[in-house]
Amino acid sequence: MPVAGMPAAGRGSERTTLIQGARVYDRAGDIHRPPIRDVIVEGNRIASVTAPDDSADVKARIADAAADKRPDAAVIDGRDKLLIPGLVNAHYHSYDVLAKGRFEDMPFDVWALHSQPAYWGKRSKAELRARTLLGAMECLRHGITTIQDMNSLVPQDEETLDVVLAAYAEVGIRVVFSIAVRDIAALDIEPFLPPNMPADVTAIVSGKPGNAKADLAFVEAQIKRLAPLSERLHWALSPSGPQRCSTPLLEGIAALSDRYKLPVFTHVYETRAQLAKARSHYPSHGGSLVRYMADVGLLTARTTLAHSVYVTRTEIDRIAEAGAGVVHNPLANLKLKNGVAPLLDIKRAGINLALGCDNCSCSDCQNLFQSMKFFTLLSGGMDTEPTGIHAQHAMEAATVGGARAVGLEGEIGEVRPGMLADLALIDLTDLAYQPFNSAARQLVFSETGRGVHTVMVGGRVVLEAGRLITVDEVAFRAELAEVMQTVDKDYEQIVARHKAAIPYLLEANRNLKNADLDVSRLIGDAE
Ligand SMILES: [Zn+2]
Repeated sequence: MPVAGMPAAGRGSERTTLIQGARVYDRAGDIHRPPIRDVIVEGNRIASVTAPDDSADVKARIADAAADKRPDAAVIDGRDKLLIPGLVNAHYHSYDVLAKGRFEDMPFDVWALHSQPAYWGKRSKAELRARTLLGAMECLRHGITTIQDMNSLVPQDEETLDVVLAAYAEVGIRVVFSIAVRDIAALDIEPFLPPNMPADVTAIVSGKPGNAKADLAFVEAQIKRLAPLSERLHWALSPSGPQRCSTPLLEGIAALSDRYKLPVFTHVYETRAQLAKARSHYPSHGGSLVRYMADVGLLTARTTLAHSVYVTRTEIDRIAEAGAGVVHNPLANLKLKNGVAPLLDIKRAGINLALGCDNCSCSDCQNLFQSMKFFTLLSGGMDTEPTGIHAQHAMEAATVGGARAVGLEGEIGEVRPGMLADLALIDLTDLAYQPFNSAARQLVFSETGRGVHTVMVGGRVVLEAGRLITVDEVAFRAELAEVMQTVDKDYEQIVARHKAAIPYLLEANRNLKNADLDVSRLIGDAE
């Protein structure tokens, strides 16, 4: 039964929660010293955001019911806290979470040689579960309530998918899940590999081509099988990258996106090798991956391009005209030596910008506070004039920008009545906020993630006082330790097996560096 005198709760839960006395971050309001508000959450949605004196009787009834320990009412003390919309990690892969901290100083293709799921083969259910939980746990701990998991299922079967989705349901994060597909095996850097490589090295770097029809059939079968989707689960579509997919596969994804109105996420121009490939392999599309996407019907307002490091001015305009978006992943771009995306031009073109943390094995954390800080600071390496990229824009990219990218605009990303209650409470007594001068700036420039106190997803509290309450963290650590025994052994084998390929990939990387291409995205060149 709902608490007397209050409107009936929304679907999913009958609980009414009063978050009392928090400063509430509203991008349209005072972003530096947000006003103190009370927020009522009914079921999975925000019912009201009001001044402390408003609707006192309703709030008193919730407080009384909570004091009586009724299961349908709760009060969260928001004093000395800042309530922000849960952050949206708009580019992420859960498959290599367990490789956090493994790699350093590796160009993209050497890193891929160690981290890509195809090289690891089928994993146990325990490992699939552990890695999915762990990545989501770290996200929640850092105030991320929605992730876009672009997942390469190995093998691509229902059992693997179901284990991953069950782990997401258990931990309680919102996931916009996509099954990554590709049917062209060749590495992007393949044209730069030296000739006459030994057969064993050729075998390692060649890969196996996929099957467009089978991929499309599998993805659509899962969309149908899992309908209607459970709470907090949403679909997206993911061709791995335009140059890794045949035209029929890309056209098939475009058709699925249109049929089911699903967002599309794909890697575009993450690396210099992808730039080279665009120029050499797509002459009939002007040497442009962006134009190729447009030509196959995949550059739409539902599409978000991950990275876009090597986009040109003309391509930026084309992306803007199509209403497509970009998800910026500064940590991974820098860690893998891919350079810096032309953020100022992308932002000034009015393109929807979202932020991601990308793979754990090339960002080593799922922490959008780091991505937000990089996003704002990198612009300082592009222009000596004021750039107009401020902390509030980083917050917008991490909230409403992400929401729009994942197809949940108007549902998540703001603390407004009617929206899903995906929220994070930040502890303003943390040293990051002493003294308290600006919510927006201190969130972006000072917060490490340490101040994240309470997190709610769809009205359900999943983290309290910095501790996950949906997962027993002590038991989980034991589970993880068990799983890692196998992972560590398999990792040693992969290192031994792939060692011979590294000098050839490094040579290819040097050839690529010296190639005469029309775009450069490295900074700090002394010449
Ligand atoms: Zn990625």
